Amino acid sequence: MVRVGFFGRLLLSLKSLIVVGLGRLPQRALGWIFHLFFLYHKPPLHQDGNLLPGRKNRLTVLAWWGIGLLCKTLDLLALAEWADLITQLLHPRARMLSATEKEEARKIFGAHLNWNQVRLLEGSRLAKIGKWHVGSESMAVCVGHTLHFSRRIVCFPGSRDMRWLVHELAHVVQLERIGLVYIPEALWAQRNGGYDHGGTAKLSAWSFGSFNREQQAEICADCYLKMALSGEEDAHCKRLMEELKQGLI
Ligand SMILES: [Zn+2]
Repeated sequence: MVRVGFFGRLLLSLKSLIVVGLGRLPQRALGWIFHLFFLYHKPPLHQDGNLLPGRKNRLTVLAWWGIGLLCKTLDLLALAEWADLITQLLHPRARMLSATEKEEARKIFGAHLNWNQVRLLEGSRLAKIGKWHVGSESMAVCVGHTLHFSRRIVCFPGSRDMRWLVHELAHVVQLERIGLVYIPEALWAQRNGGYDHGGTAKLSAWSFGSFNREQQAEICADCYLKMALSGEEDAHCKRLMEELKQGLI
């Protein structure tokens, strides 16, 4: 794979801002209108897949509708693409995925991700602050298509860091599919339901869209690891990954 230099990466980010920002404008405008009239509005889910009890509470629904509308408006302004371009400009060392990382991640996401838009910023100050704030050993923060890691990641087939990278890339897929609204939904998921997807019992019975945003990312990561270690695709993973590729999230 040809290594793309800083100016090449900057141009690719600029191209994404123009092509994706303008190209997806009609689709994003439609999403905004749908959201405005409650035609598409998915309130956060509990771990058991049921709607939150607050669903009946008009204020809760209205608050989520408002957050959603704000995100849809920011999508129209191509905020994620602007963030990608500015991050690349401010952090020349933000790199693209390596050949191995891309090859491994493709096993899960196929062609359903704009690979040239993804950037990795290892040893990111933002992620380090986040790590310090929550007191964890390491942390990743996903801003647009840029994945901020608190430390350098070592990715090879089946490694823990490769699994971690797949989890973060799942958030990029969520961004591409539903826009910035995935961020408040993921933050909600971290405090309600968490990361545990419930294992085989739920993986065999639930649809991909029934899991919260963090559980969805964990499913991608676990399915990747299972496939990388066994060399075979698990039947449940196959169905769930197919739903993800179809955009049923
Ligand atoms: Zn996550």
